[in-house]
Parts: sequence; C-alpha cells; structure tokens
Amino acid sequence: MPLDIAETANSSIAEPTNLVGLGRDELKAEMSAFGAESFRARQLWHWIYHRGVTDFAVMTNLAKGFRERLAAQYALRRPEISRAQVSRDGTRKWLLRFADAQEAETVHIPESDRGTLCVSSQVGCTLTCTFCHTGTQRLVRNLGAGEIVAQIMVARDALGEWPSPHEDRQLTNIVLMGMGEPLYNYDNVAAAMKIVMDPEGLAISKRKITLSTAGVVPMIARCGAELGVNLAISLHAVTDELRTELVPLNRKYPIADLLEACRTYPGSSNARRITFEYVMLKGINDSPAEARELVRLLKGIPAKVNLIPFNPWPGAPYECSTDAAIAAFSDVVFNAGYSAPVRTPRGRDISAACGQLKSDSIRARRTVTAPAPAA
Ligand code: SAH
Repeated sequence: MPLDIAETANSSIAEPTNLVGLGRDELKAEMSAFGAESFRARQLWHWIYHRGVTDFAVMTNLAKGFRERLAAQYALRRPEISRAQVSRDGTRKWLLRFADAQEAETVHIPESDRGTLCVSSQVGCTLTCTFCHTGTQRLVRNLGAGEIVAQIMVARDALGEWPSPHEDRQLTNIVLMGMGEPLYNYDNVAAAMKIVMDPEGLAISKRKITLSTAGVVPMIARCGAELGVNLAISLHAVTDELRTELVPLNRKYPIADLLEACRTYPGSSNARRITFEYVMLKGINDSPAEARELVRLLKGIPAKVNLIPFNPWPGAPYECSTDAAIAAFSDVVFNAGYSAPVRTPRGRDISAACGQLKSDSIRARRTVTAPAPAA
C-alpha cells in the first residue's frame, strides 16, 4: 500500500492534545468527540485537578484499555521548569517554559499562617509602568488558561500538595500579581480561575484569590460579577498628572473613573475590602500631603491600603522611600481608619519581589499575535 507521505509526516510531528488546562465543558466535549461517555469526563477532571496526576496509567477506576487509548491520543503535560530558585527567606521562584519556548515566572511566598502564589497572566506586559521591571519587557503574548492553571499545578507538585483539599496547605492564596495585566487577558484568566475555584478542581475559594489591575476600568465590573475574586488596584499616585507618568494607562482611565469602578465593585464590603497598592518612591509620591489626599480619594470605598517599598532593579530610575517616610505615610492613612500595612519585600535576593519579574522571552519577529488591548 502506498504511503501517504504528507499524512505520515504530519502525524509524526503532531503533539498529543494536552488535557491539562481544559475547563469542564471543554473536557466534556473532548471526551464526547473521543467517543467516551460523559461520566468519563468527570472522572478525568478528578484525576487531573483533584489528584494532580500526570500519567493515565494511575487512573485506576478507568479500564486498562481505555487508559491506553487515552494515553495514545492525549497528554497530561506541565510546562517545563527552566529554572527554580529559593530565596534566603523561603520564597521560591519558578521560571516556566511553555510549549512554544516562551517563559513566565511564578513565585511562592510562604508565611506563618498561609502561603501565597503569585501568578503571571502574560509573557511581558504592555503597560510600561516606569517603576516596574516587567514593564521594560514588551508584551510577548497572553498566557492561555491552561498555562495559568499550570503555574498553580507546578507549585503544588513542588510543594507536594496533592490531592487538592489538603490540610495545612502551604499554598492557600493566589494573587494575580505576576507578569502582565490580568484584565487585558480576561477570558483566559477567567477560564483558569474557574478551574482553580471549582471545589472538585484545585479548590481554592474566590475569597483566597486577589486580582491586581493597573486599572482597566471597563473590565472591573465584569471581573467582580463573574469571578467575585478580591480586587487590588495599583494606584501609586493621587493626582492624574503623576499617575499618568508612573502608570501610563491612567491617560485612558483616569483616577476618578477608576475609583468610581471601585465604588461599585460587586461583592465588596467592609468585610471584603478593595486593596489599594501604593509603591513608595522616594521624593516622588511619598509625602504626608499625598497620604492625606489618598485618604480623601478613598472616602466611601471599602478600602485597605498596601504600601509597597519600591523594589529596585538594574537601571531603575527610582529609589525606595526612607523607612521614616513610609512610616509617616502609613500613620496618616491608619489614623484615618484604614489598615495600611507595609508589604515586606520577599525574595529580593532572587528577584522575586513585586515588579522584579522579567523573563528573557523575546518577541518573535512577524509571528507575534499580541492581543489588542481591551477597549
Ligand atoms: N498589572 C497588574 C499586575 C501586576 S501586580 C497591576 O499593575 O496591578 C504587581 C504589583 O507590583 C503592582 O501593584 C505593581 O504596581 C507593583 N510593582 C511593580 N513594580 C514594582 C517595584 N519595582 N517595586 C514595588 N512594587 C512594584
């Protein structure tokens, strides 16, 4: 029988479809196309997201022949860990390499009563905030839902935290505060968080998830209504003039519009406050007068303030405020009735602190499919 060369060549290079990262409906559709009954999708879901297995062979409630057929057509792949580092303070950072060789970073920050995973949503970023190292790396691409979920799964692998509802977990909280602007990749972030929040999936509740945005105003209400996660706003300045300089997105969505979206954020209350992040830049935004103006702006919003000492990076045009300036700023905000903790820098020695993440991924010429910024 003559060989069909084209077909042979194709099938020899075709990667098996990865099931890790598929949502419930996608997994169901995939299984129905595969000719399996719908309860098989539920069983697979349990093995993939509850047990975290990476091999069909261990799925003992599936018949051996069925497991073999699955293994012939599908994969349960994680991204490759291209570098893993541990800081003196226990913070861990993983540089993950995806199927197309693009890379992004994920950071685990252990604390006495919890552990937070800082997850990336894009490779690079479009926002060019002047104090952020990631902002100096141009956007390469959005991460897919599976690539976002995989960051949590890789951390669970490393921390030995399968199956999902584990007592005394080291990974209790998720912050979407890594590389990228999550609200510019909303659909994939949302699909990923639905897997993460599923009680039979990764089983991390929306109350333990915080999405941080530089202020993509038109997406904020949708994020609250559909995902109901905690919201953090990278505010960093109290006048439009300065904020536009620091966070150029402010030109499009100025402070008043941003705060209005916060005022009406679904699900926020005094028990579930919106976090306002404020990076402390020496002589730039750190005066007591600015602290007082911040208090005035936040009036009527269930808010808390997170003061972030500026984390330096090579060639950065700023310095961190003095301890005295940070303490004075915090006092003003605190005395007005808001909690105003100073975020302890973690993992600075491995460049894992806020704003220090950057991968060496570069934009491939001509083949880039950068998303159009929303709105
Ligand atoms: N694009 C989103 C997610 C990034 S979160 C956002 O802007 O919110 C990262 C947080 O770290 C943001 O609050 C960001 O403003 C802050 N950050 C960035 N660079 C920093 C630096 N060098 N030092 C301290 N905080 C920084």
